Formats: sequence, structure tokens, C-alpha cells
Amino acid sequence: MKRTLTGIGICLAVLCLAALPAAAQKSNPPRPRVLVIGVNGMELDIIRPLLVEGKLPNLAHLIKNGTYGKLRTTSAPNCPKVYSTIFTSTPPAEHGVTGFLVNGITANTHMLKEEPIWSFLSKAGVTVGMANVPATFPVMPVNGYMVSGMLTRGKDCEDGVLCAPKLTEVEGGKAVYPDSLKQELLTNVGDYYIDCSRMPAAEELKGKETEVINAWLAKVDLIRAQQTKLFEYLLTNHPKDFTFLGQSCEDRTGHWLYPIQPFNAGYNPKINDVRLNAFPNQYIAMDKVLGTILKHIDENTYVFMISDHGIKPLREFEETNPHAHMDHEKTTPVIAKHDFADGDDVPGSIVVMGPNIKKDNRLMGFEASVYDIAPTLLHIYGIKPGPEMQGHVLTEIFTSGAAPVKTASAAPAPAEHSH
Ligand SMILES: [Zn+2]
Repeated sequence: MKRTLTGIGICLAVLCLAALPAAAQKSNPPRPRVLVIGVNGMELDIIRPLLVEGKLPNLAHLIKNGTYGKLRTTSAPNCPKVYSTIFTSTPPAEHGVTGFLVNGITANTHMLKEEPIWSFLSKAGVTVGMANVPATFPVMPVNGYMVSGMLTRGKDCEDGVLCAPKLTEVEGGKAVYPDSLKQELLTNVGDYYIDCSRMPAAEELKGKETEVINAWLAKVDLIRAQQTKLFEYLLTNHPKDFTFLGQSCEDRTGHWLYPIQPFNAGYNPKINDVRLNAFPNQYIAMDKVLGTILKHIDENTYVFMISDHGIKPLREFEETNPHAHMDHEKTTPVIAKHDFADGDDVPGSIVVMGPNIKKDNRLMGFEASVYDIAPTLLHIYGIKPGPEMQGHVLTEIFTSGAAPVKTASAAPAPAEHSH
């Protein structure tokens, strides 16, 4: 049902634009360009020392020339739950994607009960491109393209949780919209891995820890290189007003290779001393991806780098469940996690740079939350947030408290949707 309505929304986009006040049509200013980069579980405790060491030059550039700070997240945060809040500015209980599994079924877009940002934008005539964003499988129609990311189901991983299916191995739904783009990607990008690899199980690791860790990290490098090629291709050949790209290998690595100390819960020298820099290295690699992406923007583009939550070493005293130190499959010995009951223990982060964005500005405490992302992005396009949205426009990040486009001038009525 939702799908159909989103489709109708896109068809109505022309009408919505026609409904703009005559003055707005006459001047016809170019629509703002926005690039959102979502990094799953970006952890400031790891990021900050790397910034000091000068190992994240591109992120440092964003921070220096923009506004940054913590991003308050939901309680017991995890990727599908928080991303769906980012998409809709509504609590998990309302948008319906409450975790990796909802009533035993892997989180998917059919469960989304509130209208996501790509639908608001598409209806207003904004061109949208999304790739590798978690919890966007099966893809939904947009005024542009959508290529799914983490939680895409596929061969040998039918449950769709933490899989790494290749584009040709996707099962149980479509990973690419429009259909024609799939072959184009296979031809020009190749049959790439859609998501980061599942973490190895304790059984696989036993007795050959170093070998398994090195092989797993090598595959992460391969996956990131393929995804970077995908981003490059899409940014070059399908530029859009609004682009949303995702990264998820960093978090996956942190769960079991966080550089913990011998006194941390779950410490196992056979695993945790093998590649001490494995997790920080993910951010160094991420920064290179960021550099590649930033080559495609100009000084008038807004760049939002956001993470859904952080990730911290385990704290034994909070857990009584013997499986608490295993991953979602209950097989990998994890040493860091993010689904702590108090989400403020593992905040996400936000860095914004662009025209009218305050430079060298830091948000203190929890001025910004995952609920504020969608209203703020819509505000940049002059689109009124839906009445169900619970976040606020982050006016504090804009110079003189104003965004460049007048709010509400292009505000279409939010579509009703149901399941
Ligand atoms: Zn995680």
C-alpha cells in the first residue's frame, strides 16, 4: 500500500511544483544540493585521537569548516531502528522498525509505517539518489534511484541479518530502483558486495584466529573498494539534488576488534591482540572514501555526515544473559556494542558543512538528535516536516538562524499512508 502511495507521490511531484507561488516559480532558484553520508556506529572515542594525529584529513576539513557534535540516539540503539528514526523523525514504536528482527522477521521497508524522507523529497520534485543506506531493502520508488545496503537479503543468508550478498545474489526483494539501473551497475561497477561481511563465529576462529581475522579484514577492504566504486559511478553519472550514501563496515569491525585493554570484559588475546589497529584503520579508510565523495561537491553543497550511534567496549556488570557478548547471531564473540539501555552512553555524531552553516562550531551536550535530521534536511528544501515528525529543525547550525530556502513555500501535504 505504502509503495503505491509513494509512487503516486512521485507522479504528483509535477503538480506540487505547479502549486508553488508564482514568485517562487519566476525566480526559479536552483534547488539546494545535499549530500548525506551515514556511517554506521561512528565512535568519537576512536575518531578524536585519529583527528589529533592528522589521520582523518577529510573529516577534519568538514569539522573545521562546519558544525559538529554528538547526536542523541534512541535507547538500545541499533542500525535499522535508528536509521528508520532518521528517515521518519518518529520513535521506533511508531515507525515500526524496532530492531534487526520485528516479530521474528528481518527488518525491511515493508514494515515502515511512517513516511520516509525520500518520499517527502520525491513528492516535492527533489531528485533523490540513495546507495548502501541501511534498512532500505527492498528498495522503494523515488524521484531518482535507490540501491539498498545493510539488511539486504541474499543467497546463503536468507535471514538478511549481517549478510554480504553480491548484487546478483539478492533474494526476497529488489535491491535497485529503477530496474534498469541494476544491469547498468553490473556492467559499470561490477557484481559488488552490497553489505559488509558477517562476523566470523567463535567456532570458525578457534585455533586459526590470526588467519581468519586477516582474511575477514581483507574482505572488508575489498567490499569498501567496491562500494567506493559504486559511489563514484553514481555521483558521476547520476548526480541528484539529494544524495544519501552509507557505510557499515566500521561498526561491524568494532564489535569484535575494538582495541580493548586486558581488563575489559570479553578480552581474548588470541583475537584482540592480533590487529590492534583494525578498528581505527576502518576510519582511516572511511576518510579516504569521504575524500573521494567530496570531490563531487561544490561550495554550495550541504554535506551531512551522521552516525546512528557510537560503539563502546562491553561492561560486564550490566549483563547477566550469557549470550549478551555474542553478536546478533549469537555466535561471534563481541567485545563492544551499542545496544546499551541508555542510548546517551553511545551517542551518534553529526558533522555539517555547507552554505549558511556555521564554521568551526561545536554543538554541546545533546543539542541535536537523530529525530532532527529529517526535519532539518526538509527545511533546506523548504519542505514542511510532517505533523508526525518529532524532531526540530536544527536552526542553531545555520548562520543568522536561517536556512536558504523559505520554509513551507513548497510544502506538499504529507501523504496519508497505511499498511
Ligand atoms: Zn553494530
